[in-house]
This record gives sequence, C-alpha cells and structure tokens, in this order.
Amino acid sequence: MRYCIVGAGFSGAVVARSLADEGHHVLVIDERKHIGGNCYTERDAKTGVMTHCYGPHIFHTADERVWNYLRRFSTMTSYVHKVRAVAKGAVYSLPINLLTINQFFGKTMGPTEARAFIEKKAMPIREPRNFEEQALCMFGEELYLAFFRGYTHKQWGLDPAQLPASILKRLPMRFDYDDSYFAHPHQAIPKRGYTELVASILAMPNVEVRLGARFEDINELFAHVVYTGQIDRYFDFKLGRLGYRTLDFEAFRAKGDFQGTAVLNYCDGDVPYTRITEHKHLAPWEKHRFDDTICYREFSRACGPGDIPYYPIRLVDEQRILNRYIELARATAGVSFIGRLGTYRYLDMDVTIGEALNAADQMVKLISAGRMLPAFFVDPS
Ligand code: UDP
Repeated sequence: MRYCIVGAGFSGAVVARSLADEGHHVLVIDERKHIGGNCYTERDAKTGVMTHCYGPHIFHTADERVWNYLRRFSTMTSYVHKVRAVAKGAVYSLPINLLTINQFFGKTMGPTEARAFIEKKAMPIREPRNFEEQALCMFGEELYLAFFRGYTHKQWGLDPAQLPASILKRLPMRFDYDDSYFAHPHQAIPKRGYTELVASILAMPNVEVRLGARFEDINELFAHVVYTGQIDRYFDFKLGRLGYRTLDFEAFRAKGDFQGTAVLNYCDGDVPYTRITEHKHLAPWEKHRFDDTICYREFSRACGPGDIPYYPIRLVDEQRILNRYIELARATAGVSFIGRLGTYRYLDMDVTIGEALNAADQMVKLISAGRMLPAFFVDPS
C-alpha cells in the first residue's frame, strides 16, 4: 500500500522524498493547483520577475543538516535580507539597530552610549507578561509606539497587550550598525525560485503528485497518512476552529524601481497595509534592475472559512481547543500531523524542514521495525 502525504509544501515534500528514497510508494496530494505551499514562487508573465506569490520568503538557518539538504536540490543564492520601515513620515532601518536609534532620536551616539540611553528609556518590568510589556522593557515607549504598536495591531488584529511576548522576541535589538534582519549564518533564496526547489525534492519515480485534489475526496486505502494541512480540518472542525490570520495581497506594477528595496514596512496604524514587497529585489542576481517591476501591498485580517491560513494565533482559547485536537489525534490510528498547520505553530522554513527530516527519519525506522507511527513527532502543545 502507498503512503499518502496531504500537502505539497516543504513538510510534505521532505517526508515524501525520504519515504521514496527508502523505496516506498507515495501519493502527494494538494488542493491547490501548484506545489510549494505558501513558499510557491512564479515568474510574473508581464514583468518576468520571480514573484513570491504568498509573500516574501527568505530562507535563513544555523542548522547545517537543513542547509546541506536544500543544496542537494537547488542552488541557494546568498541573500542578506534588510528591512526598511516607514514611521511618522521618515524611513528607518529594522530591526532596531544603532542607525535606527541615532536617526530616531537625532543623535550620533556610539554603542555604549546608545545602550545606556535606551536603558534609561526602558521601563523596569521584571517579567513582561505580553508583547507590549516586552517592548516597553526592551526599548521604552517612543520606539514601541513608532515601530511596533500600529504594525502589530494591523498584523494580529489585537492590542499588543493581548499578545504573547514571544512574538517580539523573534526580533533582535542591536547596538551596532548590523542591519541584517536575520542573524543566522546561512541566508539565501533558491536561485530559480522555491517551486523548482520543491519540484526537485519531489522528483522521484515512486512519488505521484496530484494537484487540485482534496483529501476529503480521495477513496484509497493507504499504509499511513501524513497530514500537513490544518489539524482541525482533518477532524472536520468538530471541536471548534483554530484561529489564524490570513493575508491579502494587492499586486501592482510600475516602471523601473518602485521602492529601491525588497520589503518596506509601514508601521503607522492609519496606513491600512503592513508592508510592500517589491519582488525583483528578492532576486538581485536576475537582470531586472531598470525594467518594469511588480509589487505587493500586504493586508492582514482574520482568516475565515475558505481563506488561506498563514499565522496561527495561539491565544489561551486556541490553546484549549488545540489541546483537545491533540488528544483526539493521539487516539486516532493511521495518521500523523506535521508542519505549521498540522501542529498549529508558527514555524520558520528551516524549522519546518528540520522537523520534517526528523519525522521522516523516525518513520523510516518505525516502518522497517513494523511498528505503528505516532500522531506527532514533536510536542505541539
Ligand atoms: N513587528 C512590528 N513592526 C515591524 C516589524 C515587526 O511591530 O515593523 C512585530 C509584529 O508584531 C511581528 C513581530 O514583530 O509579528 C515579529 O516580526 P517578524 O518580522 O518575525 O514578523 P512575521 O514573521 O510575524 O511577519
């Protein structure tokens, strides 16, 4: 019997490949008309620009296994991501670094002076209980209000005081002029786009990829199902719906260079979008510098039935519902859940790939020992 992998994003592709490498037969299905999940890239017909159709995806990692794995399947071209941010009529550099601090406060401080300056602004909150408190105790009210309050409210649809501090902890604050958005040693984008990379992972004679196919409509018996879709959907939402934020992209084309960089954040609360991505700057090795350009204005909103889920919200209510789905999944034989949607966690691409590789290793061992596969390979609670 074949194995069925639901979802042709990174999680599904990596597991399918590992099983196929062991000689197993695999059916990968995806309800969308393309592989790659939200990493999907496509060349825009009008401008010729490689477009990140579900928003900008920049690969970054410190995990050597994941880095070497991807390089087996595609040329990963070095790309150091820099983000600029518009706030109250001026342009700054993010994450907050010495340039941001000096420009924002009109100073010319060095690292030590700036550190002492920010320490004075920072509020003495011993154990920050939420995003707002975390921001106030990291860099004080002015920087919080200018760069984080409005943006976070737009991004999550909630007051930052209702959000966990962990969201902010993803961003560093630096007291030097390092303005790289990520701190990982490997930062890159596949030279010919993510779709080709995922296609190359899936390119095995014993892997069938069926697109435009819903799991609900498949009538075939499988040795096991690896489900990378929404865990609540697998169970027909019978214990309630887990909340997500979805994104809308408003594409527009322009002549030449629109904004001079890949991503420009708009931090003010009264601008309805969170950021603009100019896709050709995500592939600076391609020859589009002076030609037409394609940009996406990005809007965030609550994810309704039928929308594409992006960010798991994971507040107290969702956590409660999730725990009940986890129990149900553990009591259900024949299916394992992996990935961002399968385990309802915010995961960077490298973590997604690393977890899928580990899950596949365990599957291969358990299968050859004739043992049952568990519902989860990580603890999603
Ligand atoms: N954030 C912000 N202003 C910015 C950039 C980020 O307030 O200009 C906040 C926002 O709440 C975001 C979080 O910091 O969700 C983490 O930033 P990251 O770039 O990791 O965003 P994500 O991957 O969530 O889009």
